[in-house]
Amino acid sequence: MSKIQTQEVLRRFDLYSLIKPFTRCAHCNGKLVEIDKQKIEHRLEPLTKQHYDRFLICSECDHIYWQGNHYARVKRLVDNFSNEK
Ligand SMILES: [Zn+2]
Repeated sequence: MSKIQTQEVLRRFDLYSLIKPFTRCAHCNGKLVEIDKQKIEHRLEPLTKQHYDRFLICSECDHIYWQGNHYARVKRLVDNFSNEK
């Protein structure tokens, strides 16, 4: 796949927004800001607390985000595309 085709695919399926998924809140479109884990860990599920260290919080609605499995899969897909010459 050529680079131009890759860009077309990314555009068509709106994958660009998935490459940088953690800039806007999916619920209210508020701005996401990094937050220390210790400040929000009382709100996390035990497994989340155990497996993740980087968190973002919505400045509008307080929704917490972290980089889960879905993000890793999308990133691998995008990396594969990006490596095409
Ligand atoms: Zn929000």
